[in-house]
Amino acid sequence: MSEVTCSFCGRNKKDVDLMISGIHAHICDKCVTQANQILGEEKKSKTEPGFSPNFKLIKPVEIKKFLDEYVIGQDQAKKIMSVAVYNHYKRLTQRKLDNDVMIEKSNIIMAGETGTGKTYLARTLAKLLQVPFCIADATVLTEAGYVGEDVESILTRLLQAADYNVEAAERGIVYIDEIDKIARKSDNPSITRDVSGEGVQQALLKLLEGTAVNVPPQGGRKHPDQKMITVNTENILFICGGAFEGITRFIANRLNTRPLGFVAGQDGSHPGNLDKDNLLQFITAQDLKSFGLIPELIGRLPVVSFLNPLDRDALRKILTEPKNALMKQYKKLFEMEEIELEVKEGAIDFIVEKAMEFKLGARGLRSICEAIVNDAMFELPSEKNSGHLVINRAYAEEKFSKSQYSKLKVA
Ligand code: ADP
Repeated sequence: MSEVTCSFCGRNKKDVDLMISGIHAHICDKCVTQANQILGEEKKSKTEPGFSPNFKLIKPVEIKKFLDEYVIGQDQAKKIMSVAVYNHYKRLTQRKLDNDVMIEKSNIIMAGETGTGKTYLARTLAKLLQVPFCIADATVLTEAGYVGEDVESILTRLLQAADYNVEAAERGIVYIDEIDKIARKSDNPSITRDVSGEGVQQALLKLLEGTAVNVPPQGGRKHPDQKMITVNTENILFICGGAFEGITRFIANRLNTRPLGFVAGQDGSHPGNLDKDNLLQFITAQDLKSFGLIPELIGRLPVVSFLNPLDRDALRKILTEPKNALMKQYKKLFEMEEIELEVKEGAIDFIVEKAMEFKLGARGLRSICEAIVNDAMFELPSEKNSGHLVINRAYAEEKFSKSQYSKLKVA
């Protein structure tokens, strides 16, 4: 009698657990399982909308309301972002079958001084949407083959944030910080590529446009022996942010061409009769190009937004108002030691003044506060019968003057 083998994989009957025989063919248990899987996947892609069933579409107004609870000011950016994110996820719920109108991805690029809330906005958004989120720093990225991180490492981070659930990662949000640092240094494209600039922009393009990317699961260099995970970036939302220092020069120049005209400042860097703090609000794709981003990359980041510099009022609000405002956090920390913390208005004023002086945006607030409360946090937990701590301006000034922080020179 001739040997019975699987008509699909050719395995011999004695090498499998079960062999099912038909009229003219045989199939082994392994091939049955595999065929069943293929059937399942095929059914899923035909019947399901393009997105996971438990995803709830949140309306732009709701998105903004949520952002308002955490992020102070930046109304314009919040609105632009809410709409972009809404459209992005609407695109994902589009049934794969009706492909007559393809909604394009709405990746976002934000310009704003350091510490004005760019990262914070993106992070808060991810929290609301409950999707994997990661932050990547564009400055450490290099073109493949150079010392530094390959752009794929960004997706490694996203995978890690998603606990290696590829499907979840594929609809996550990636925030790429300091995108301005990979701008081409001069406006004329050179023949020799610069490692940090244009080459990285080119490499990023691939990620932003939505392709299947092979990602080293543990990060690091691509290694021939390392098993890669394929991640499709088609539905990943990319948000890029940068300070774009000096971009106001290009904005001013462009605005200058209008008949109304603006007088240039003495150093020629900014217009004299326009509030230079406000120029960023006129930012367009054209300015990003003048700054040194390549047109292809700008094309992949169709939503351009800006963040306002934070004034005293905003900094004061940031300290006290958001859901997890710094002052609320400190209160909680002391409360856990059964100490009631009272921070007087004068102390808040002092913290805000110092933050303005150091020009670190809201980022400075935290370190200034730390400098002020550190002694109390050090001593009070081991003291009996303390119960109440009042921080007024004099207390804040005294503690701050003793800290390392006060020795810093203001730029
Ligand atoms: P960047 O614009 O440089 O990305 P971040 O978003 O990292 O700045 O801001 C640093 C920190 O300052 C945030 O973690 C957040 O606590 C606080 N912060 C900045 N901007 C705001 C804001 N508009 N509202 C509330 N908190 C803010």
